[in-house]
Amino acid sequence: MVLGDLGNQISSALAAMSNTTIINEETVNNLLKEVGNALSKADVSMNLIIQMRKNIKDKIKLDQMAAGLNKKKIIREVVFEELIKLLDPGVPAWKPVKGKPNVVMFVGLQGAGKTTSVTKLAFFYKSKGWNTAMVCADTFRAGAFDQLRHNATKAGIPYYGSEEVKDPVMVAKKGVEIFKKEGAEIIIVDTSGRHKQDNELFEEMKQIETSIKPDNVIFVMDSSIGQAAYEQATAFKTSVKVGSIIITKMDGNSKGGGAISGVAATKSPIIFIGTGEHIPNLELFNAQTFVSKLLG
Ligand code: GDP
Repeated sequence: MVLGDLGNQISSALAAMSNTTIINEETVNNLLKEVGNALSKADVSMNLIIQMRKNIKDKIKLDQMAAGLNKKKIIREVVFEELIKLLDPGVPAWKPVKGKPNVVMFVGLQGAGKTTSVTKLAFFYKSKGWNTAMVCADTFRAGAFDQLRHNATKAGIPYYGSEEVKDPVMVAKKGVEIFKKEGAEIIIVDTSGRHKQDNELFEEMKQIETSIKPDNVIFVMDSSIGQAAYEQATAFKTSVKVGSIIITKMDGNSKGGGAISGVAATKSPIIFIGTGEHIPNLELFNAQTFVSKLLG
């Protein structure tokens, strides 16, 4: 279990409430304070937190609750509903359109799970009958193209990359052009990452974006990054038009509290979660299941 994870803090606050004998205004205020602190530590914006606390207070009217009602259960449910709301940026998830090439660009730090998720997503659409292709525009990390080639071959998906060309913009452009000509419907472009956020990386992402004009930019975030989530997501969002999020490694110990910050920072919906190292280990995002795990 990751210490300091948003989910753990909220779970503890709910557990503390459950352990009190009397539920009154003070118990609710204490709970809201703890939930607010946890969200604030995860860099969820003050406005969102204030709004959430207000929504919860509006829904919990202790003086109007009949005796015998399970107040603790009701409070838990209200907190649950409001957390789900935080995961909903209010814009529909991007969907590819049939009969045209849909270009998807992946961004994220090295190790986040980009290349793995590129293959998973390509395989997901291939399994649904879409004509899919993958492009390796990561010319930074030695072995990146090999990894993509290996994954693509395993998944039976056409791919493009270059051992010689070191300019990622050229490789991305060429790959997209080739697959557009071949009539691919979904062209997924993997890009390079760095161990930390740096200007060179963001400049590269901007240039690739300008060159290939993606229909969707997917930000890949490791579920265990915790409090770094907001800043990392913001950094990518300010460089390129992030439109969706994939949260990886949800099969691990992390409860994925950073996801709320990711959504807040990018105003983009989470579309999938990665649940393992293998190609089929990709699940459509479901906010209810996610929050259950967060509080689990
Ligand atoms: P990239 O540098 O962002 O392209 O990251 P990779 O795709 O190479 O992934 C980094 C590591 O994370 C690899 O060992 C992957 O197998 C692993 N990985 C990626 N997604 C998941 C996931 O959902 N669950 C688990 N357990 N491992 C994952």
